Amino acid sequence: MIKLSGISKKYGDGDQAVYALKTVDLEIEAGQIMGVIGESGAGKSTLIRCVNMLERPTQGSVVVDGQELTGMDNRALARSRRKIGMIFQHFNLLSSRTVFANVALPLELAGMDKAAIKQRVDELLELVGLSHRANAYPNALSGGQKQRVAIARALAPKPKVLLCDEATSALDPQTTQSILTLLKDINRKLGLTILLITHEMQVVKSICDRVAIINDGELIEQGEVSWFFANA
Ligand code: ADP
Ligand code: ADP
Repeated sequence: MIKLSGISKKYGDGDQAVYALKTVDLEIEAGQIMGVIGESGAGKSTLIRCVNMLERPTQGSVVVDGQELTGMDNRALARSRRKIGMIFQHFNLLSSRTVFANVALPLELAGMDKAAIKQRVDELLELVGLSHRANAYPNALSGGQKQRVAIARALAPKPKVLLCDEATSALDPQTTQSILTLLKDINRKLGLTILLITHEMQVVKSICDRVAIINDGELIEQGEVSWFFANA
């Protein structure tokens, strides 16, 4: 579902050049949950942002659901990005919009009619367990509830892939576990492919099928999570 081949990313030039990724190869099969773990500055964020071209790799190829993204113009890219949802450490909700309206936003932008939006948003809020908060504003929600809204919003366009950028790093351990359980549920129910980055081993251990370790821009090891913890 996701295939990164020979991805490199250089920030800056000359003396200032930083090689954030160094010919990274990574493949994630449909329906899998892949975790990329590494320390701060290792290149995790750059890596995950290359998958949806929020960051353009300096070199290499990014294929998502059979489509090469690196050469695309903005129009084609916008279309392909509907297949790729993303959630963030700090949720990135719009504070002036209700829970309902945050989740509705990508559907409004896609031109869906009001009745269809209502039905789809209700369905999504039910999926993430937040139907009772539809009319609340983000400021009134707990961190875990905010991330549930962000997950519902990311799923609204029916993506095939969900990218999770340190999605539980701002949450306490108990809330982290409830969000991870939700992600696993969604993975099973919808067959969604998930790529997550984290600096926490516990996150990998609790939901990932496979794990890759990134250090100083290089993937130094990857394998099944069960194998990894048997040999760690
Ligand atoms: P991580 O997510 O693992 O903390 P990042 O991908 O954010 O790592 O960063 C990898 C390296 O690239 C770091 O050395 C960081 O300072 C550098 N870097 C990240 N973004 C930029 C940028 N926009 N400009 C210059 N250097 C950057
Ligand atoms: P605005 O975008 O002007 O800030 P709102 O945040 O109130 O407006 O809502 C955005 C859209 O979502 C509007 O079309 C509104 O009718 C719809 N909406 C908001 N909450 C609900 C709800 N609970 N049920 C159905 N539609 C809703």
